[in-house]
Amino acid sequence: MSRFLPSRAAAVAQLAAFLPNAGAHYANQRNADLGPAARDNVSLLSPAVRHRLISEAEIASAVLDRFAFSTSEKFIQEVCWRTYWKGWLELRPRVWTQYQTELAAQIARISDGPALDRPLRKRVQAALDGNTGIACFDAWVEELRSTGYLHNHTRMWFASIWIFTLNLPWTLGADFFYRHLLDGDPASNTLSWRWVAGLQTRGKHYLARADNIRKYTGNRWWPQGELNEDAAPLPPDDLPAAGRIGELPQPKPGLRTGLWLHEDDLCAESWPALDGRDVVAIGGDVTPAARSGLPVSDAVIGWTEAALTDGLARAGTHHGAPAARIRPGERQRWLTDHRIEQVVTAYATVGPVADAVAALERELDRRGIALVRVRRAWDTAFWPHAAKGFFQLREKIRPVLAELGIP
Ligand SMILES: Cc1cc2nc3c(=O)[nH]c(=O)nc-3n(C[C@H](O)[C@H](O)[C@H](O)COP(=O)(O)OP(=O)(O)OC[C@H]3O[C@@H](n4cnc5c(N)ncnc54)[C@H](O)[C@@H]3O)c2cc1C
Repeated sequence: MSRFLPSRAAAVAQLAAFLPNAGAHYANQRNADLGPAARDNVSLLSPAVRHRLISEAEIASAVLDRFAFSTSEKFIQEVCWRTYWKGWLELRPRVWTQYQTELAAQIARISDGPALDRPLRKRVQAALDGNTGIACFDAWVEELRSTGYLHNHTRMWFASIWIFTLNLPWTLGADFFYRHLLDGDPASNTLSWRWVAGLQTRGKHYLARADNIRKYTGNRWWPQGELNEDAAPLPPDDLPAAGRIGELPQPKPGLRTGLWLHEDDLCAESWPALDGRDVVAIGGDVTPAARSGLPVSDAVIGWTEAALTDGLARAGTHHGAPAARIRPGERQRWLTDHRIEQVVTAYATVGPVADAVAALERELDRRGIALVRVRRAWDTAFWPHAAKGFFQLREKIRPVLAELGIP
């Protein structure tokens, strides 16, 4: 059975089980990937936190209830890497559209049509099939396909081998991850691939080395002589200047309010700015297939849909309102049946979910109903510090936690 269960109850239990290891054990052991059966050195919370079945603030509070900041700092920092990547991409959404344009061009090169590059298609297919002859890489392909997860260090080695040893377009590798990772996330995934390639921190790339792989996999793998350990970073691309994180209007009191859930935040029990609002119905939908123009794994689709079911059930109980998945053709009926006057949804970050929310907004607009996005205090407080490197945000972790009332 998968160890990643798509429910809040499972995420809360997973956090409780991992908590004793979130201090020194994590700080010392987190870089080791000793195989899928030995994962007590990492939390395995990423699918849950990416979909906000559990929030970063809850995780930080639980960890700091148990450990001093100095003991759990490494773990809290890693949680903040997600926040940093999300904030960074929010400030530069054009990097996402550039990625999509480049990805579409590379997909055209491996698809039937005028741009088809047969040798490239063959090499990409060998990598996607786990048929490269580099034993560790081929095993990681199989692990990703069968579990929807890879350890962080392994993701770094994988991306590096894809780009610098196999010489494949980085966007196709990022897309393969995004289509198969249960925690697949536009910001963490795209920007981590960019970071490995040397596009994110100019001129600094990540090169996988056989000895490093041997050390951190406990001798399970040693691709000696098989990796390009001398490659140069990819040539830099245009980095847009950082924009600003805008203010959001609040939901109006006194209106019949529908809540709209999506896969960026499936915990409507703790959305801000809902106190005193008249919640009359809860709807929602997920669009995991929109992650890519290529097929998204059944595991990702099934997991995301089950997480929505869990989120709707909890939200319905909490707000005392009927809750149901609403497909695009059923929206009109949902709005009229419940006489909804405003719809409130969680702020969706740059990517396909934000696109789906924007489409919903246009539809509501035509019916004269406002869509109001609410953003968690965690994001509002941290994202402005994501304009530069992670170091700048890292320096703000303690003051921001204090500002948020997290001890
Ligand atoms: C090439 C590449 C692609 C990646 N793609 C994704 C992705 O699509 N989605 C995703 O959630 N993470 C991605 N990551 C980040 C990281 O690998 C995973 O979040 C982490 O491995 C999840 O395992 P865990 O929950 O056991 O992490 P832990 O080590 O237990 O960390 C705790 C939490 O901190 C956060 N976190 C830890 N490391 C990172 C990191 N480097 N970047 C961002 N957040 C982090 C996650 O929320 C994680 O659940 C990627 C990293 C690389 C190198």
